[in-house]
Amino acid sequence: MTKINESIDTGWNFDHSYARLPDKFYSRIEPEPVREPELAVFNQSLAASLGLNTNSLKNGEVAAVFAGNEIPEGSEPLAQAYAGHQFGHFTMLGDGRAVLLGEQITPSGERLDIQLKGSGQTPYSRGGDGRATLGPMLREYIMSEAMHALRIPTTRSLAVVTTGETVIREKPLSGAILTRVAASHIRVGTFQYAANWGTDEELRALADYTINRHYPEVEAEENQYLSLLQEVIKRQAKLIAKWQLTGFIHGVMNTDNMTISGETIDYGPCAFMNDYDPATVFSSIDRKGRYAYGNQPGIGAWNLARFAETLLPLLHEDRDKAVELAEDAIKDYSQQFHHHWLAGMRAKLGIFNVEKDDQSLMEDFLHLMETHKADFTNTFLALTFDKSDGVADLFEKEDFKQWQERWQKRLSRQEESKDDSHQLMRNSNPAIIPRNHRVEEALEAAVEREDYSVMEKLLDVLSNPYAHSPEQEEYTRPPEPSDQPYQTFCGT
Ligand code: AMP
Ligand code: MG
Repeated sequence: MTKINESIDTGWNFDHSYARLPDKFYSRIEPEPVREPELAVFNQSLAASLGLNTNSLKNGEVAAVFAGNEIPEGSEPLAQAYAGHQFGHFTMLGDGRAVLLGEQITPSGERLDIQLKGSGQTPYSRGGDGRATLGPMLREYIMSEAMHALRIPTTRSLAVVTTGETVIREKPLSGAILTRVAASHIRVGTFQYAANWGTDEELRALADYTINRHYPEVEAEENQYLSLLQEVIKRQAKLIAKWQLTGFIHGVMNTDNMTISGETIDYGPCAFMNDYDPATVFSSIDRKGRYAYGNQPGIGAWNLARFAETLLPLLHEDRDKAVELAEDAIKDYSQQFHHHWLAGMRAKLGIFNVEKDDQSLMEDFLHLMETHKADFTNTFLALTFDKSDGVADLFEKEDFKQWQERWQKRLSRQEESKDDSHQLMRNSNPAIIPRNHRVEEALEAAVEREDYSVMEKLLDVLSNPYAHSPEQEEYTRPPEPSDQPYQTFCGT
């Protein structure tokens, strides 16, 4: 393995704070070189904000770095250990097909994990090939960048390279590697790993590390581990409220896929809902609908309870007291979630002030959308622009007209003008979301025909979902009705 020519100023500025944790938390492992790396997509603006100077590198060198064939200067690759509840069942996991190159310290002083996903086998591969395929990696790129543009905390995607190798799934597919950028990859599952297989000292080391990295403000608190729990609960409540408000369905909310930083992570079978229905599930493996749209807030609480359990030895020396503290913290989650959801729904409906009947106004609205099978995103758009395009079926219904009158009256009971409401709604209701049929169309062109223009156009319109520009118009259309429900598959 070669090191990149050190005389080129590539902008890499790595630190390795995670590697200073006890060595139980990771295994040092280099990415396995691939046959023929080629750059498929590259996120120039993200690269610039990371401080990378890709202009000084030839295209081939960029591909070699993001394929793992060349280790960038200062990188000390490792795979992280973690466990997790997958569909409720607890197992040991870990980075089975990913390596962390290091933490890039950006020009603005942020510390961000740079991880290659699909980079070969690691000690945590459990028989898997350590590889990833092109379709799912491009899908993660599109979805995560769309989430970022929707102002939802998320890991980012820096690059996708094809490997020139075939990966065997149900059929032979093109291999690919995604470079993921994250506030960190510490998961609920990382704490579960520490609590189950580590000593109390190792658990404490992880908690102290996490506080220092993500929640330094709690260091001064009397019970900083309780504060850590409370802060994680706050961020997750806020995050999941944002998912609900945009119709995002994660699809695989296992505890290893829930970050401690509060970023959305792991874009496997995720998808956005079209018609409003709380029972919506897209993932082919989620047969019982555990991770259905309407279950996400509750699963958030379940996962956070698993996180709280891991912290018990640190919360209080008296076990009963520790359990009591953890339970109280978890109880706050629903209230926090509800607060963020209500505030977000008020904004989506152009409401500035607070009235006690707001919740029933919102619930009745959701119920109408469900009954009349209305598109979630487009119904809010129709209210924003006072046009019934695409949702005429709903707008013609008597019960909806009554609701609309109630909503109009509600808007008149605030100081802000109609125009203020319109502006608030424009800014709270995205013109476009990554609709499943549009994402599939872009992936098919890229994977089957090596035509990346469809994906580039899609990424471009998704990059500013609140622009409400004429080019976005055609992307607002929901898919044609089909007998075949849309299905997503885990990102393998
Ligand atoms: P995910 O479904 O992406 O959250 O992955 C769950 C676990 O399976 C993680 O420990 C992954 O590292 C591991 N995994 C997924 N795909 C592979 C693969 N092709 N080879 C080895 N490990 C994998
Ligand atoms: Mg995962």
